[in-house]
Amino acid sequence: MFNCFKTGWRHLGAALFVAGCLLSGQVLAADKAHVVVLATGGTIAGAGADAVNSATYQAAKVPVDKLIAGIPELAKVADVKGEQVFQIASESFTNDNLMTLGRRVSALVKDKGVDGIVITHGTDTLEETAFFLNLVIHSDKPIVVVGSMRPGTALSADGGLNLLDAVSVAANPESRGRGVMVVMNDEILSARDVVKTINIKTNAFASQWGALGMIVEGKSYWFRKIDKKHTLTSEFNIDNLKELAPVDIAYAYGNVGAEAYEAFAAKGDKAIIHAGTGNGSVADRMVPVLRGLQDKGVQIIRSSRVWGGFVLRNAEQPDDKYGWVVAHDLSPQKARILAAVAIASGFNAEKLQKAYWEY
Ligand code: ASP
Repeated sequence: MFNCFKTGWRHLGAALFVAGCLLSGQVLAADKAHVVVLATGGTIAGAGADAVNSATYQAAKVPVDKLIAGIPELAKVADVKGEQVFQIASESFTNDNLMTLGRRVSALVKDKGVDGIVITHGTDTLEETAFFLNLVIHSDKPIVVVGSMRPGTALSADGGLNLLDAVSVAANPESRGRGVMVVMNDEILSARDVVKTINIKTNAFASQWGALGMIVEGKSYWFRKIDKKHTLTSEFNIDNLKELAPVDIAYAYGNVGAEAYEAFAAKGDKAIIHAGTGNGSVADRMVPVLRGLQDKGVQIIRSSRVWGGFVLRNAEQPDDKYGWVVAHDLSPQKARILAAVAIASGFNAEKLQKAYWEY
């Protein structure tokens, strides 16, 4: 009886202790989400000579452990582990880098001990990597890609808060099933439509369809969900991909000639993304060139160099007649990723066109 009385008090004491910890904002170590930070380089790992050099610096300098150690607040949000996958500026990313990173993410999402993944990345091609992962990773665990516009050595550096926000999104169970996300400048954006819009301001990333949500003081506020296929609903899977199909982008402008298109075809491309003017339009003199390449088995995909709106099928050009595909609202750089993944997965023109509507 006395023992029981004693045990009762002990339980009550423990309960009060736990409640006290939670009320005071502390989370017990066992309750914390396990987040892995995969570092790939970029400005978020950059260093400059002095604090006012926010644009003159070297990207990809600071190792991941130092990045994490520089933000003690991370430990309050999650149990964070770092892994250095690459140390490069993102303009140097290759298809091989995408595959290596994708395979690592795929292995980590299968690990029961991992709740979320953050990828630190240069901002130049961040949207391409994020979209690639959005297509090929089969998991509803939060995957967040983050960068910064200023190196950590600059006054008002943005990387620290961006990384803290990214980890808080990755640690949050409410983030599950939303597809791969990009966290920059207090916003949560979808990998499929996020675009880097300016190269010298901290509010560099936007989506023409709006942000998914915002992070304020570490808390996520959600506003929309993506009505497109991604991650778990995707037909693509990195585990079944050996390599990406060769696809390049040819940029259209007044006076454009056939040279770039023909060089890409000669190199063995399976598809060429035509970054067309306006509605993915094609100059009169270029129509026979592109039709000739299509007849030789190089899939022509019309996208637009204009960042907003989307390319309409059979408007501007008779796509049905020529066997061409349109990239819908995907930018040329995202259109390349989808074509490279879909063609490597055995998609023909018809299935590829369907994919551009659906992803
Ligand atoms: N050139 C850098 C990179 O993409 C720019 C940045 O990270 O902001 O790696």
